[in-house]
Amino acid sequence: MSTSLIAMGVALFLVINLVVGLAALSLLLGTFETLFGKPKLTILRSTKNGPYLAFGFKWNSAKEPATVDYVSLRLFNPFGNPKQAEVSKTFEAKSSSFAEEVDMGPGFIELLGAEKFDLATVQVVVKSSKNGVSWQFDMKGSKFKKLISNANLTTSQFLEGHKVGVAQESKPPIDIPIRSFIADTVPGKGAQIAIPTNPAFAAQFAGVAPAAQASGAGAPAAENFKVTKVWIEPGCIVCNACEDIYKDVFEVKADTCIIRPNAPLDDGLRIREAAEACPVEVIKFTIAS
Ligand code: SF4
Repeated sequence: MSTSLIAMGVALFLVINLVVGLAALSLLLGTFETLFGKPKLTILRSTKNGPYLAFGFKWNSAKEPATVDYVSLRLFNPFGNPKQAEVSKTFEAKSSSFAEEVDMGPGFIELLGAEKFDLATVQVVVKSSKNGVSWQFDMKGSKFKKLISNANLTTSQFLEGHKVGVAQESKPPIDIPIRSFIADTVPGKGAQIAIPTNPAFAAQFAGVAPAAQASGAGAPAAENFKVTKVWIEPGCIVCNACEDIYKDVFEVKADTCIIRPNAPLDDGLRIREAAEACPVEVIKFTIAS
């Protein structure tokens, strides 16, 4: 069997698997929707005397927007009498899940008292008169009676328990800090250095004795010193600052700075000035004792 035939077979197998997988996933999602996404009717305990039907109704109002305002009970009673009966009532329209206690009128009592009621089918219909949407729930008469007699939640308990009609506590707004993607100025970096060779301070140092220049105008004259060794550690960014300050000692090359051969080491103040001006602090020196 040729290689191309094998490849085609593998590709076909993968495609079939993909299709079957997607179909299974679709069915699964549909099942979940059917089982858990359906509107739900709950028969509740009436707190009033009389022909009241108390019930709760939950549905996905976002998916099925409607104003629900109608409930009816239909009786299909082939083995008893009457064969059919219906009571209905409108109530204040609700636009989301709710619980209601509705006076169904005397027909409700007659319907419940129908002969062979337990064998009949009861159909509860909840609908929106305005939107033409309706949901119906069919059950045996015996089950309907059982739901009414076993109901222990009142409408208010149902609403509270299901957080229906209660405004959801608003979540605190997300606090988004104001950020700048431009780095803040690092304190001290970029500040002008008060040295005689800095043109911005040239006037300030004009006429001041060299010994005093090293430590700033108006400052007490610093005593000069000798160094025994001066060197450049790795990391020079060839900014020329040191050479501008003391070109007899520092020579900036294409990719680094070097100490000139036979550089004078007797003006420690200027060497220190150059070291302090170095933005990456790679100029090191040792002071002669
Ligand atoms: S001042 Fe520092 S970084 Fe600039 S050239 Fe001299 S050694 Fe290099």
